[in-house]
Amino acid sequence: MSRFCPNCGKPLHNDQDVCLSCGKSVAGARHNKIAAGILAIFLGGFGIHKFYLGQAGMGILYLVFCWSGITEIIGIIEGIIYLCMSDEDFAAKYH
Ligand SMILES: [Zn+2]
Repeated sequence: MSRFCPNCGKPLHNDQDVCLSCGKSVAGARHNKIAAGILAIFLGGFGIHKFYLGQAGMGILYLVFCWSGITEIIGIIEGIIYLCMSDEDFAAKYH
């Protein structure tokens, strides 16, 4: 998986938390993406990842339908999507 600095677009190493080209911290987006993915996969049925991403309205919708089991399946799919997304896409979409 190759990563690029969201600020200057220079390639980054996977374990790099600060861009060597512009000095911007790039750890935040990566951390949030993985946390959101894990929350979605394990607690997605309750919409916890939606609350985490600041989409409280969607989170409540998940809570309302969590008895059905459908939200659990959607949560797992969303978690996989989050984890497969590039850091830039995730940061652009969910900040
Ligand atoms: Zn940079």
